[in-house]
Amino acid sequence: MAVERTLSIIKPDATRRNLTGQVNAKLEAAGLRIVAQRRIQLSQGQAEAFYAVHKERPFYGDLVAFMTSGPVVVQALEGENAVARNREVMGATNPADAAEGTIRKEFAESIEANSVHGSDSAENAAIEIAFFFSGCDIVG
Ligand code: ATP
Ligand code: MG
Repeated sequence: MAVERTLSIIKPDATRRNLTGQVNAKLEAAGLRIVAQRRIQLSQGQAEAFYAVHKERPFYGDLVAFMTSGPVVVQALEGENAVARNREVMGATNPADAAEGTIRKEFAESIEANSVHGSDSAENAAIEIAFFFSGCDIVG
């Protein structure tokens, strides 16, 4: 598997509890390199656009409210099989189902406030990275 990139977001529940460094330590221990990183406050419009794929889901409004409730850290991660590797270290969406040692098992508060986002395919990773970063922001 070739080196690839994925988009990660450290969500407001984790930044509020000052867990950025602990999340990053888990990402790096999993073999992922943080090749771009920025702490931002998402606007309502940005959060709605980013999560547009979930527009029809019942939790969409709550998700947008949560993602704009505090700062997030957006990151581009690079590594072998980065999309799948990041999903693995993140753990299941619902922390109750997440495996031992994963970020969500250790840090997530609920199925919504689940500490991290990760792209779910290489195709979406490219779209999501471009949403937050331009080429010269990323140093691999
Ligand atoms: P992410 O896209 O954030 O990496 P994911 O791919 O594991 O997470 P998705 O199904 O894409 O999960 O859902 C996106 C986000 O919406 C979840 O991470 C979570 O914050 C929220 N979410 C998902 N399902 C629910 C639910 N049933 N109730 C409340 N919030 C939910
Ligand atoms: Mg998803």
